[in-house]
Amino acid sequence: MRTPIIAGNWKMYKTQNEAFQLASTLKQRLSNLNSVKVVLCPPFTALASVKEAILGSNILLGAQNMHWEKEGAYTGEVSPEMLLTIGCKYVIIGHSERRSYFFETNQTVNLRVKSALKFGLIPIICVGERLEEREANKTEQVVENHIKGAFADLTGNLAEETVIAYEPVWAIGTGKTATPSQANEVHLFIRELLSSMFSKECADKINILYGGSVKPDNSKQLLDMSDIDGALVGGASLDADSFEKIVRSAT
Ligand code: PEP
Repeated sequence: MRTPIIAGNWKMYKTQNEAFQLASTLKQRLSNLNSVKVVLCPPFTALASVKEAILGSNILLGAQNMHWEKEGAYTGEVSPEMLLTIGCKYVIIGHSERRSYFFETNQTVNLRVKSALKFGLIPIICVGERLEEREANKTEQVVENHIKGAFADLTGNLAEETVIAYEPVWAIGTGKTATPSQANEVHLFIRELLSSMFSKECADKINILYGGSVKPDNSKQLLDMSDIDGALVGGASLDADSFEKIVRSAT
């Protein structure tokens, strides 16, 4: 059984104080939940204050990106060890905004995934097609390319420590959501692909989250689908009421 994961990607929102307040409110409302893993991914500057706010609860901390090297002369970057020692358990890798605005490639995604696993962080690996790719019937081709790129050189033992987020780019921040069956179809495709690359046992252990305009009014239908094992939530994770409702719809 895969425990659902609801992860909030706060993107470049929330100052340190705002982040502390939101995380404290979520702790009060959600700290006793056991049937769902709640992960908060604030900006780097708020990781320490969110960690403090969620102390003593089941809520987990995640970052939005990392460099693959342990340390070095990489101005502006943050290392896996820095994330680990500040209290992160998860790290989002290869978000479409990183791929499109910061030129991340399958190769750099793969370096980050391998490094995260080496340091004991769980990568949330984002994959998904753009609108023109869906319209050209290339969804499976693009998703396969992202998955094969991200998982290059990994053994099944390591692969099963990861989380995947299927996020159709056309649904991120646009208010357009894939229908539950459209999303589940791609999740099933991903699971089959993982099964052929590793093994069925391995594929069955990996949580595949859906992301793309998940809101309180559509989360239950999405999360009820057979192969949707949680959600990566952007906009709706910035508000305690809407994020709480999404989390509760996964219980
Ligand atoms: C995201 O940031 O991964 C995301 C899915 O954003 P939104 O929920 O706002 O579409």
